[in-house]
Amino acid sequence: MRIGRTIPPAAAPIYPKDIVSGFKGIIRGNSEFERFVTDIREYFGVKYCFLLSSGRAALAVILQALKKMHPHRDEVLIPAFTCFSVPSAIVRAGLKVKLCDINPETLDFDFIKLSRVLSRSCNPKSTESNRLLSVIAVHPFGIPSDIHRLKKIINDHEVTIVEDAAQSMGAEQNGNKLGTFGDVSFFSLGRGKAISAVAGGVILTNRDDIACNLKKIIQGLPYCSLFEVLRLIGYAISLAIFIDPLFFWIPRAIPFLRLGETLYDPDFKMRKISSFQAGLARDWRGRIKSFRNARAEHSRFWARVTEQDRFSNFVKQDRVLPDLIRFPVRVEDESLRKRILDDSDKRGLGIVPGYPDSIDGIQELKRSFEGEDFPAARRLARQLITLPVHPIVSRKDREKIHRLILG
Ligand SMILES: *Cc1c(COP(=O)(O)O)cnc(C)c1O
Repeated sequence: MRIGRTIPPAAAPIYPKDIVSGFKGIIRGNSEFERFVTDIREYFGVKYCFLLSSGRAALAVILQALKKMHPHRDEVLIPAFTCFSVPSAIVRAGLKVKLCDINPETLDFDFIKLSRVLSRSCNPKSTESNRLLSVIAVHPFGIPSDIHRLKKIINDHEVTIVEDAAQSMGAEQNGNKLGTFGDVSFFSLGRGKAISAVAGGVILTNRDDIACNLKKIIQGLPYCSLFEVLRLIGYAISLAIFIDPLFFWIPRAIPFLRLGETLYDPDFKMRKISSFQAGLARDWRGRIKSFRNARAEHSRFWARVTEQDRFSNFVKQDRVLPDLIRFPVRVEDESLRKRILDDSDKRGLGIVPGYPDSIDGIQELKRSFEGEDFPAARRLARQLITLPVHPIVSRKDREKIHRLILG
């Protein structure tokens, strides 16, 4: 166990002034909530916005709405390497997880394989009925998924594209805002995302039919109880304290907090967002802007450092760097990767694996993928590491990480 300065792998700081704003949110109640919704709708130029207790809850609600619209369909297709919250939300919505392997160069779908999967799943002449309800396109770590390409190869208008922009609130690609590409999309306001309100989920859509169903489902969800709001307040205050690298080793040393673990768990709470969280997020535009600048500067640095044969990064030479919330690097040499991760763990430098496994490796889901293989996703789970780019990383930290990588 490490005692002393420890850098969190990802962080969107919450400042004391945000907590004050959270308390004001509680006093303002519903008007705080309305303000947040209006603000988001204006900024993203979308017709509808809904707020939930987490990104997972947002995704589960979206899928429940789609299921209501197309009751004969029950399959949701996702990349085989992604955040475990995605299959958790699919199972929570009572649907089946279908996987497509990824392209290890882009972390996006392997589009050749995707065309094959889609032609099987939505072939109008197929004797099997068309079971595919939705395809979820994820922007992993902030790398934009090619949703235009996805749209072109889906030739079934009943298949809805859900854009998982959980890590990408405020991120852009060629001047277009991520979260506005799919039929419906969502952001997370969780701890390690682009901006945090302790927890929270934001749904965007322009589609009247989807919004109408979403509204009905969300109206039926409970509000946070007083106890839950108190817990959120406690959590916000601890985050404001413990996210400081001087103290971050403390929560990391407490096993039951399970910090940084990615768990598969469909049994999560689904609530409306509280006015405390809406208040906490009041200055989201300002915070996103400053966090984005800090992350971009660190990302540029990592892009240069990882420009070596031993590493592959996901930066295209001729393109602008995407808005990343962790900087992913593929390390093919197993012993080098192990050395980097172990050293970082010992010295508290915030380098961690991407996700613990590919989705077909999740114990509870394994049986649904018998006979299928997702080799690129499986390999990547064993090769990926991510470097921290968040605003708390100092130049001195960066130098230490740089030296660690060089070995
Ligand atoms: C974090 C995350 C989610 C879930 O968001 P929570 O707010 O943590 O529930 C979903 N998808 C991706 C890609 C994520 O990174």
